[in-house]
Amino acid sequence: MHCPFCAEDDTKVIDSRLVAEGNQVRRRRECFSCRERFTTFETAELVMPRVVKQDGTRQPFDEEKLRSGLMKALEKRPVSIEQIDTALSHIKAQLRATGEREVKSMRLGEEVMTELRQLDKVAYVRFASVYRSFQDVNEFKEEIERLTAGSGDSVADVTKALADSGAEKKS
Ligand SMILES: [Zn+2]
Repeated sequence: MHCPFCAEDDTKVIDSRLVAEGNQVRRRRECFSCRERFTTFETAELVMPRVVKQDGTRQPFDEEKLRSGLMKALEKRPVSIEQIDTALSHIKAQLRATGEREVKSMRLGEEVMTELRQLDKVAYVRFASVYRSFQDVNEFKEEIERLTAGSGDSVADVTKALADSGAEKKS
């Protein structure tokens, strides 16, 4: 491919590795002319089902929107971009595995929650509190207690992290 720095016609691949559990190839390239190096990512383009919203309207699956939703939930959390990419490819694989041409937005939301639950509890509760719009504070507390049961995190740790992020402020 062309060099993005000097527009030289040809560049060479100097390193290539699989990322996101083998669903993506990351390549380091170097320009023959200016010697600048840059990175490209390659993924297969597969047809995703359309998303049916609760009001019945249909939308094309929007990976960037999903990514920014995950990034927002994971803001300031100890989760790497690569882990986010892996979660994204899990979600997409789950949606494709339905074999349906359309999936309900609720289904997409559930897949996101499944991934976030494994990645980061605080992000999970942040997302769930918006998505499920917990009816009251007790319901919210119960969810956190369920999440922290049997894990090293205490309820106080999770609620504190949430308070720090401002996610507890609910309408
Ligand atoms: Zn160049």
